[in-house]
Order: sequence, then structure tokens, then C-alpha cells
Amino acid sequence: NLSVALSIDSQDELGDLANSIEDMANKLRHTKKERNEFFAAVTHELRTPLTFIKGYTDIASRESVSEGERVKYLSIIRDESARLTHLMDDMMTLVQFEAHNFSIKKSSVLIANLMDDLMKKVAGILNQKNIHLNIIGSQQFEAKLDYARMQQVLINLVINAYKYSPDNSTISIDIEQSPKSFSIQISDEGEGIDAADLPYIFEHFYRVDKSRTRKTGGVGLGLTIVQDIIKLHDGNISVKSKQHGGTTFTIELPYD
Ligand code: ADP
Repeated sequence: NLSVALSIDSQDELGDLANSIEDMANKLRHTKKERNEFFAAVTHELRTPLTFIKGYTDIASRESVSEGERVKYLSIIRDESARLTHLMDDMMTLVQFEAHNFSIKKSSVLIANLMDDLMKKVAGILNQKNIHLNIIGSQQFEAKLDYARMQQVLINLVINAYKYSPDNSTISIDIEQSPKSFSIQISDEGEGIDAADLPYIFEHFYRVDKSRTRKTGGVGLGLTIVQDIIKLHDGNISVKSKQHGGTTFTIELPYD
């Protein structure tokens, strides 16, 4: 019986999940108001999908439920589980930052290689909305960067741009060099961010659209991670945006 098996499995998985969250919480539970607020937010973010999973598992297990309804409930359970996985991945990265276990490994990186790789990774996704990625400026120079982490930054920013952009629009990556540093600007023609939200978007769990029914996924940790990685590179990230007028993220990095 599928629904009973699912119910038991997911209870076990959730138990494990809860334990590992507890472990992480215990490791980090000293000092600071900020930290307490972080864990209050984590708890909240975990509780919501867990409530959905528990509730729909119970309903889907009932004999009276039609096959069609059961499929619908299972797909909600799957979506909420995917959301939890995404949250866990992001949190593991953040916990490493906060525990200062996280170090970057810099090596000489040719910017053209970083961009080619990015293109390959996002092309399939951008295709789904027929979005064109346009890279402007010379990429034929090297900088000392953590390749994998910078790849993560660029992917996060391009995927965000994708999520909030209309079909058939363009995302531009503009690379500029000055004597001591270089910048990478990622601009989209999407819905933009309201001025009232703009100061907060790098904060933990901050999402402009708080509704859980929105299709764009995400838990509001992506930009926090991006900012942390840039800071570890002694760089800076800023944002300019206008509601309905597109968004531009600017990363500034030293060569070394
Ligand atoms: P999420 O995982 O929810 O996308 P992020 O930390 O990546 O979280 O982003 C925080 C919020 O900033 C998003 O929920 C979204 O509202 C807003 N945002 C980020 N990038 C863009 C963008 N390119 N265009 C419009 N809004 C954006």
C-alpha cells in the first residue's frame, strides 16, 4: 500500500531531518540575538513544509480518497519535500559559513572559462522561457578566485534573473575592468524589486513575495550565500532595481 509506506518512510526521514537540524542548532546556539533570530526563522521555515507533508500524507492515506485526489496530494508532498531539500542544502552552506569552517580556495581563473561553464550550465533552463543570455566585455583576463564558489554565485544570480523575467527577454552579463578591480553586472528585464524591499534582500530568509503558492520556489537564502561568498573574496555586491523596470546586481572583485 503506497500511501501507508510513504507515510512511514517520510516520518522516518523527517525524524532524521529534525535530528540533524537540532544538531546544527546546538553547535551554533551560543551568542547573539541575530543567531537566535536565525534559528527562529529556520524553525519556521521547516515547520511549514513539514505541516503540509504531514497533513497531506494523512489525507492521502485515507481509503475514501479518489485516485485523482491522491495524485494531487502526492504532488504537493513531493513539492514540499523538494523545498525542504533545497532549504537543507542552503542551510548546510550557511552553517559552514557561520561556523567559520568555510574557506575559499583561490586559484588563477580565466574569466572566459568561468563564463563558458556558466553558459553550459544555465542554457537548458533559460531555453524554457526562451531567454537570451548576452555576455558583454572582455573575458580574456585572469583573477584569483574560488572557481566552484564563484560558479555558485553566478548560477544563483542568473537563475534568480531567470525566475523573475518574462519569456523572450534578455539577461545581460557585463564585465568591466579597472586597474585594481573588475566588475560583473547581471541585469534582467524582469519584474524588479520594490524600493521598500531592496535593503533586505540579502538577509536570511527574506523573500519579497511571502505567499507559499508562488511558483518561483526558493527560501530566501540564495542571496545571503552569494553575499557571503563575495565577502570572502574581499569583494562587494550591490543591487539596483525598479519595480517593473528590471534588476541589476553588481559584483566587484579584486584581481588577487
Ligand atoms: P529565493 O531563494 O527566495 O529566490 P534569494 O535570497 O535568492 O531567495 O532572493 C531573495 C528575494 O529577492 C527573492 O525572493 C526575490 O523576491 C528577490 N529577487 C532576487 N533576485 C531577483 C531578481 N533578479 N528580480 C526580482 N526579484 C529578485
